[in-house]
Amino acid sequence: MSSGAGSPDATPRDVIIVGSGPAGLTAAIYTARASLQPLVIEGEPSSTSDQPGGQLMLTTDVENYPGFPDGVLGPDLMASFRAQAERFGAEFLTAKATKIDFGEQPFSVWVGDVRYRSRTVIVSTGAQSLLLELPNEERLIGHGVSTCATCDGFFFRGQEIAVVGGGDSALEEATFLTRFAAKVYVVHRRDELRASKIMQDRAFANERIEFLWNRQVVEILGDERLEGVMLEDTQTKQRSPLDISGLFIAIGHRPNTDLFADWLDRKPNGYLVTEAGSARTNIEGVFACGDVQDDYYRQAVTAAGSGCQAAIDAERWLEAHGH
Ligand code: NAP
Repeated sequence: MSSGAGSPDATPRDVIIVGSGPAGLTAAIYTARASLQPLVIEGEPSSTSDQPGGQLMLTTDVENYPGFPDGVLGPDLMASFRAQAERFGAEFLTAKATKIDFGEQPFSVWVGDVRYRSRTVIVSTGAQSLLLELPNEERLIGHGVSTCATCDGFFFRGQEIAVVGGGDSALEEATFLTRFAAKVYVVHRRDELRASKIMQDRAFANERIEFLWNRQVVEILGDERLEGVMLEDTQTKQRSPLDISGLFIAIGHRPNTDLFADWLDRKPNGYLVTEAGSARTNIEGVFACGDVQDDYYRQAVTAAGSGCQAAIDAERWLEAHGH
């Protein structure tokens, strides 16, 4: 189940980091450079929600991460983050954290039956985009299927694409995507939008957006790349193909916070609450960074920035408590 350098500790560690996307690995780089020898519980490769490296492992080209003028592949970027953390002595445990006790110092984090103890914990377990859960969907992410218009819109210049969803995200993405695409279909399963009035007005006024009401994507077509989708009318059940080269799925996100539900304050939408301008949670010595506490920006670079904040907060907390 687990592998890597971590071993159950007789003496507590200074820092355990749970999650290894851009936020967790940046926190690892900073705390390792501060000689705090962090243990990163990085997740399990077999899982799409808890995989080491996080959501960037599901993308191909990343063109908006600063420092890479020619772009970089998501998995390569995360491998570089990890190598940089290892260089300064971060230890990695390739496994999922399964239980938490933040009730007393030092805190406890379990992987199966094995308990690890630490004075501070940085939570960076990320979030996952909700998917339609259709065959081909995950395989074609990065090959025509996307969950991030900001990241991938640029690749669809002059093309016909579709956005699935009827909330603010779907309309925001559809409107944004008209900067690149010749035409954007919004596929929504009802005949009424959930999105705010202002977003609706903006989308209705946009000549490049066409709404396909009462329609559900039932098949994602293509072997190597997306070649189109099959739509089904939710009322008549009639099916019709839609010829598009890009499919943006914008039906919401889910933060990976179940593990912390008994301990950390969460917003009504499940994201962790952090004190404004810091990575501090409601429990002293527990910090959160990246998408697990960000339901707004959700970018690799903002996640990395918040990972740096969490590391510095943890470092200062340890110092203030005489460690
Ligand atoms: P959301 O409000 O939950 O909307 C999700 C949409 O996806 C709904 O229209 C839903 O349809 C549809 N959907 C869900 N599951 C589906 C499925 N399996 N197949 C097809 N359609 C499905 O999520 P969101 O748009 O990501 O927004 C989340 C929160 O962030 C909201 O509070 C939103 O206001 C906020 N937000 C704000 C802004 C902004 O103000 N700039 C931008 C983005 C998001 P139904 O309507 O039929 O349920």
